[in-house]
Amino acid sequence: MKFTYSPTHHQHAPAEIIVRGTLVRNLESPERADALLAQLLSQGHEKVLPTGWDQRWIEAVHDAGYLEFLETAHERWRALPNATPLIHPHAFAHYSSRRRPQSIQGQVGYYLAGGSSPVAEGTWTAAVGSAHAALEAARLVLDGEREAYSLCRPPGHHAYADFGGGFCYLNNIAIAANYMASKLGRVAILDIDTHHGNGTQSIFYRRGDVHFVSVHGDPDVLFPFYAGYADEHGEGEGEGHNLNVPLPLKSEDPAWLGAIDEGMASIQAFKPAALLVSLGFDPFKGDPSSDLAVSTEGFRAAGERIGRYRGPVVLIQEGGYLVEKLGENLNAFLDGYMRSRNAA
Ligand SMILES: [Zn+2]
Repeated sequence: MKFTYSPTHHQHAPAEIIVRGTLVRNLESPERADALLAQLLSQGHEKVLPTGWDQRWIEAVHDAGYLEFLETAHERWRALPNATPLIHPHAFAHYSSRRRPQSIQGQVGYYLAGGSSPVAEGTWTAAVGSAHAALEAARLVLDGEREAYSLCRPPGHHAYADFGGGFCYLNNIAIAANYMASKLGRVAILDIDTHHGNGTQSIFYRRGDVHFVSVHGDPDVLFPFYAGYADEHGEGEGEGHNLNVPLPLKSEDPAWLGAIDEGMASIQAFKPAALLVSLGFDPFKGDPSSDLAVSTEGFRAAGERIGRYRGPVVLIQEGGYLVEKLGENLNAFLDGYMRSRNAA
């Protein structure tokens, strides 16, 4: 299988994030992508670097003010007296008072939602490289590949049109899905990361041409907390095109795979021209960021189910933080996926 990858991700390596009031080691590390890359190369998959992309398809999804912030924030922050090397907002725009200030110290809490999306010197470059990798995978499929995998880092599905959060800055899968929808008409997204794809949901919530399904741990107790509930169905033209399947914490393979079956049935009924998958390995039972308990064989079985879809498929990497198991879980997923695809 061809896969896309941008080495610019190494430029984004914030050492720490804030969790429960404490600075802790950042789980979203370059080593994650390095482990996945080593696995893909060892299995003979073919690496493709993104080339020739500009900002057009990123601007088609994201707010211009937010993009300008991301590109310039670190330099502006560093010009403040006593500024830290990483941007950690300490005040946030509450939902009832979203005025956009001009200062960098005000804008960091306007454009970043929470303590798990610090901005480092290379964050913008890395985020753009990750988005371009997703676009390149979409282009491979539009040009005739049956499927492609994009090794995106930083991940993207928690990024809204106008703010970042949860390790995410640019919404890679939304950028790729919008690009594909502009060429194909109707596309579907299945998000199987352990955390609800709140940014992706928000971007397509009022659209009828992008059908979004997310299977995830209960957002009442698991990030992102403020979206991901079963009663969020879409609005306007998007009514009926948003399906959330939250699962009780500690759910194991049978419940998780049952939710994926429900999601795939919804996607098959939509009859999309292509499927994009937000592929997270953090539902894994040993993952430090998850409260689900999926096994490596569970990922193989998920791949089999998703591989039964007969149209073009773009797989986009999202979360997964137990570095030593990422390669094994990706391999199991792709093995199950290819088994179903080749059985057609
Ligand atoms: Zn996640």
